[in-house]
Amino acid sequence: MKNGKSAKVRLYVEHPPGQGQTIPLTREQAHYLFGVMRLGAGDHILVFDGAHGEWLAQVVEAGKRGGILSCVEQTRGQMNPPDLWLLFAPIKKARTDFIVEKAAEMGAARICPVQTEFTNAERIRQDRLQAHAVEAAEQCGGTFVPQVDDLQRLDRMLADWPVDRQLMFCDEALAGAAETLGAAGGGKWAILIGPEGGFSDPERARLTALPFAHAVSLGPRILRADTAAVAAMTVWQQALGDWG
Ligand code: SAM
Repeated sequence: MKNGKSAKVRLYVEHPPGQGQTIPLTREQAHYLFGVMRLGAGDHILVFDGAHGEWLAQVVEAGKRGGILSCVEQTRGQMNPPDLWLLFAPIKKARTDFIVEKAAEMGAARICPVQTEFTNAERIRQDRLQAHAVEAAEQCGGTFVPQVDDLQRLDRMLADWPVDRQLMFCDEALAGAAETLGAAGGGKWAILIGPEGGFSDPERARLTALPFAHAVSLGPRILRADTAAVAAMTVWQQALGDWG
């Protein structure tokens, strides 16, 4: 790898990298690379677009308002996570940011903020959350960036649920140990984490009756929603995901 070891900066780019490709930089990217990281023409960085693996790229033009990279060689093939969605009810801003960041690091394929009966938040900044998912992928060495959806109502999402996807319903009211996910089998899954106020009785009754939902306990203590999201992804990745 040409200078790949010294290329510490990883950047998500919209333009697909490839052999012989040049990549134009946005004003923000130019500011970050040349203003903040003090890189210049001739330096190398790593780039990925979420679909074509990771590439070593050389700075060929470095300006204040833009720049150009040239792809040198592929350093890593594309690696997509298992087909796992994380559904969670948004909580306070910093903790919601944490959930999105950790979900992206831990290998979620899609992140879906949902509004349940007791959810406090009525809106989210989808663009800001998506930027957190991008930053997490840049930092953790991933080549995939999960899509962060806009806030949608849980009941509507459940009414339109895909027939081939199972749901790990994290229910704070359940006693006892976590059910084995292995018994339910692999394939497409989603994890559902409730809001600070937990699930309402009608929501719990509806979720429990759904044929694709598997109610799971995360232990005898009530976890905060952000802790529960990380714990649930750990349990799922270990049992059915790509950590084996
Ligand atoms: N206010 C609720 C109560 O006291 O029962 C607690 C809600 S908890 C802060 C937020 C979400 O995290 C829950 O809706 C659930 O999805 C998940 N969670 C927290 N602890 C859990 C546990 N021990 N087992 C399963 N899910 C849990």
